[in-house]
Amino acid sequence: MGDIDLHFHSSISDGVLSPAAVIERAALNGARLLALTDHDCTLGLDAARTCAQALGVGWIDGVEISVSWGQSQHTVHIVGLGFDARDRVLLQGLAQLRQGRLMRARRIADSLAQRGIFDAYNGALAYATQADLVGRMHFARFLIAQGYAKDTRAVFRRYLTPGKPGYVKHQWATLEEAVSWISGAGGMAIIAHPGRYQMGPTLMRKLLLAFKDAGGEGIEVVSGCHSAKDNQHYAVIAQQFGLLSSVGSDFHAPGFGREVGRTLALPASCRPVWERLL
Ligand code: AMP
Ligand code: MN
Ligand code: MN
Ligand code: MN
Repeated sequence: MGDIDLHFHSSISDGVLSPAAVIERAALNGARLLALTDHDCTLGLDAARTCAQALGVGWIDGVEISVSWGQSQHTVHIVGLGFDARDRVLLQGLAQLRQGRLMRARRIADSLAQRGIFDAYNGALAYATQADLVGRMHFARFLIAQGYAKDTRAVFRRYLTPGKPGYVKHQWATLEEAVSWISGAGGMAIIAHPGRYQMGPTLMRKLLLAFKDAGGEGIEVVSGCHSAKDNQHYAVIAQQFGLLSSVGSDFHAPGFGREVGRTLALPASCRPVWERLL
């Protein structure tokens, strides 16, 4: 029996491997059930699904939707799994988010230009497969190539996080929109990598209640961005809030973070999302 990985990226969004290549890599790593979850986009699903089926690996359609939530407009990511990938409302919502991405990229570039870093818009777009899929990771690659920082860690710390020259405020989807697009398309909404949000327990509780109210059903208990302690903590939270539990590497590129298709097992107390999805 191989592993289950329900959150990772291809070069369609901000990963480096094509949809087929990332599925091949996951299969070689021993995966038995996969969901590709590119940011705000389902364009890689057909190629990835075809590849998974050819390799005899289990498949679920996925996406990771960007949300701004609450009074301070925290960026929160919602993974959608098992939806109808042709659903018009979902596709329209994602297209709208991508238009916002493109506008944000112009503002990021303007902000960098004020600090003397010019032509970052075209620079970042050169790393994106499609202009409206441009994200901070593409700016990161441009800035590193130009010698402004030595690696991803450093470039995010110095340029691309709140308060830094290449960070601008942006309004993504509302929590209610993201959850309703996913559930309206017959899928399941899942809070991605909760351990990454800079929220205290009170705000996190508020988020989880709002998420459940909107119709959200799952939470990523095991994530490549979590520590072992985070995994244990969110297993308890899943039980307390009556949420199903998911597992994902959040893989973007070989050699960084957790490998695609190689995840840790869910703690025994968890009810897995795939029992509902398969
Ligand atoms: P965006 O949706 O364009 O704002 O970009 C978010 C993406 O940037 C995340 O999915 C990660 O891939 C990447 N990212 C965000 N923060 C960091 C960080 N501190 N270090 C490395 N990558 C990051
Ligand atoms: Mn990403
Ligand atoms: Mn994310
Ligand atoms: Mn992700």
